[in-house]
Amino acid sequence: MNSPTHRLTRLLIKHYGNPKERSRKPPLDVLISTILSQNTSDQNSKPAFLNLKKRFETWEKVEDARHSQIERAIRSGGLANIKARRIREVLREIRRREGRMSLEVLKGLSDEEGVSYLTSLKGVGEKTAACVLIFSLGRSVLPVDTHILRVSKRLGLVPPKTTLKDAHGILGKKVPKRSVYNFHLNMITHGREVCKARTPQCFDCVLNKLCPKIGV
Ligand code: SF4
Repeated sequence: MNSPTHRLTRLLIKHYGNPKERSRKPPLDVLISTILSQNTSDQNSKPAFLNLKKRFETWEKVEDARHSQIERAIRSGGLANIKARRIREVLREIRRREGRMSLEVLKGLSDEEGVSYLTSLKGVGEKTAACVLIFSLGRSVLPVDTHILRVSKRLGLVPPKTTLKDAHGILGKKVPKRSVYNFHLNMITHGREVCKARTPQCFDCVLNKLCPKIGV
């Protein structure tokens, strides 16, 4: 257990702690809340999700609602027009495939099959698929966001020109399965608080002994 990924995982846990697993929600709830979180903060997307649930009560009713009604309910989450369309299309496709409004089918699929199933839904990318699998089903599938990608590039875990999509495959192989959950959350915290996009705080960074980009 001595690869750079193992070492940095240990250092992050020592510094930020070992995050407790959140209570698991149904996969369809996690899918919709993750779509709502795209390109905005949790602070904006959480009220949008809660309002959507409160306003319509079931996902069937959301699918049957008018576009403008959904858009109004999720306005606080930003990009409401695009997200309302995406949510309705996803719900429609799930009901068409499954004959009901449920993603329980994922429980019988392997991690890879689960990612394929979810990313075959229009507007669902690798990160959203991984969020559903890790946060709803407890699978060891790593979601990579812009913070994780930036920090990973600086640390040399992925090549400099790696895209978000490709980073899932590369980091998914490097991060030990049992560390995926804490790696995901601690790297996001580290990217937000220390390894910031414009002003990385390299001299206060717990990873600086491992980092080729220190001070760059
Ligand atoms: S040393 Fe600097 S660039 Fe490297 S991970 Fe830490 S903050 Fe980021």
